[in-house]
Amino acid sequence: MSIIHTLPLFFTFLLLSQAQPPSGAPSPSPSSGARSPSPPSDTPSPSPRSSTVCIIGAGIGGSSVAHFLREYTPHSSDFPTKILVFERRTTVGGRMATITIAGDTFEAGASILHPKNFHAVNYTKLLDLKVKPPSSESNSIGIWNGERFVFKTVKIGSDIPLVNQLLKLPLIDYIVSNLVSLVNSVLLFFRYGFSLLKMQSFVESAVNRFLKFYEVPGSRPVFETVDEMLKWAGLYNLTTRTLQDELTDVGMSPLLINELVTVITRINYGQSVLMSGLAGAVSLAGSGGGLWAIEGGNWQMAAGLINQSDAELHLHEEIISIANLGDYYELSSTKGKSYSCEVAVVATPLDELNIQFTPPVSVPKRKLQHTHTTFVRGSLNPVYFGFSRATKIPELVGTLEDPNIPFSSISVLKKHNEKESTFKIFSRQPMADTLLDKIFSARNETIRIDWAAYPHYKPPEIFAPFILDGQHLYYVNAFENAASTMETSAVAAENIARLIASRYFGKVIAYPSNKATASSQAVDAHLDL
Ligand SMILES: Cc1cc2nc3c(=O)[nH]c(=O)nc-3n(C[C@H](O)[C@H](O)[C@H](O)COP(=O)(O)OP(=O)(O)OC[C@H]3O[C@@H](n4cnc5c(N)ncnc54)[C@H](O)[C@@H]3O)c2cc1C
Repeated sequence: MSIIHTLPLFFTFLLLSQAQPPSGAPSPSPSSGARSPSPPSDTPSPSPRSSTVCIIGAGIGGSSVAHFLREYTPHSSDFPTKILVFERRTTVGGRMATITIAGDTFEAGASILHPKNFHAVNYTKLLDLKVKPPSSESNSIGIWNGERFVFKTVKIGSDIPLVNQLLKLPLIDYIVSNLVSLVNSVLLFFRYGFSLLKMQSFVESAVNRFLKFYEVPGSRPVFETVDEMLKWAGLYNLTTRTLQDELTDVGMSPLLINELVTVITRINYGQSVLMSGLAGAVSLAGSGGGLWAIEGGNWQMAAGLINQSDAELHLHEEIISIANLGDYYELSSTKGKSYSCEVAVVATPLDELNIQFTPPVSVPKRKLQHTHTTFVRGSLNPVYFGFSRATKIPELVGTLEDPNIPFSSISVLKKHNEKESTFKIFSRQPMADTLLDKIFSARNETIRIDWAAYPHYKPPEIFAPFILDGQHLYYVNAFENAASTMETSAVAAENIARLIASRYFGKVIAYPSNKATASSQAVDAHLDL
């Protein structure tokens, strides 16, 4: 979720450099460590193999594996690869899902993409999807300590309906928005000072290192472990320490860490600044400028990729067991069917699943952070926040780390009229009706979703293997301990596709000479956003 609309000019300005597309493709750099890099040629193995690749999970991870497999082992007489995708639900997308409230569609899970999420940018271009700014009408932010707002930006709006109408006129809106943004920049600067700049450079440095994952395959190794992958990009150390320690080391003030940074990590990952430095940096990057989403829902990326990859999609079919039978894997499903696959890819977190592996596989124990997302169509109760009128309440209420505060954030997704808006609440525990009745003075619709959302980050992170059995059973979500986003799933999936291409097909991946690099394509696409 983004807080960009709430962060005024100063902060947005700080994050602007990060929001711009690069002026060209990141230059390839020599590989270090990891596996030997692929030479710049496209050499099939002497004895090409026909095969079936089975993918469990139709989220962005599974659909990206299908997409990159087709790219790296094109359908041909040399590689007659069949791809089967299994999805236990009736729809694709996984944690990319939408809900409809009062005729409007909102993201219920993964909502925002960063301008440098280049795989996602490429997908939108490839699939001809329309992009838009993330849905939100949260233009002011308040930091709530359970009793009062310790910080509040200035809010545009009035209690007088006529004035509100005037404020919506384009020229007035433009002038007022810029003025308010300027005032808020000053307010933020007075509270947090130059620490804001330190935060900016911390995030920028992590984002720039992440860009190495878009270098052309010829100059980028294929990684057999997450550890190698992160070490190669210079990101591994950030997974060994807390965000708090990392930010303290760069000289950031405790006030900024305990307030604004905490608000952001609670919104984006439901966790405190004790999460790992890398997941924290990703979280902070998700509060910057230029954020975007796909009109109609981000899930369309998964749908389009599966479609384009000519994969056979098995909806509403849960895989319950995977047995290694020597030359192939046998997958059994809840429909009582079994499938033989030479390669199997698990593209879903294994932590709360009960897939039976024969022989058993070992992954480090990992706790998932549950995020309760509650949508309410109604109006907030000003008294709960110590005000006499609801218009005084900031449009995004972020919270400090205090076990007595029952929610992480409340934000306005859409104002339907003066009396009614749709709100999105993130909390670590379910929001009981009795609690909601205190926070809201009217509730016309309430929808609750309990997400097994992302790993509970606890540095030093221990990573599960990408290759679960030393053979051809792969695990995309091993990478989620680094950070959990749509783009990181796509980045991990691309590496898995390369692992399959090289380890199973014996195919060395270099970038086809008739194609632009991934990042230069992405730049083109970004310009269209
Ligand atoms: C509330 C929330 C907000 C978020 N906000 C953002 C955001 O703003 N930006 C961002 O980039 N990321 C965000 N994320 C994180 C992002 O959603 C995930 O990192 C990403 O979508 C993971 O994709 P995936 O394909 O790896 O896994 P999933 O999306 O979980 O896909 C796995 C799929 O596998 C299926 N499956 C599971 N078991 C089986 C089985 N046995 N057989 C068949 N199918 C099976 C599942 O039903 C699911 O569809 C958010 C997540 C949540 C929950």
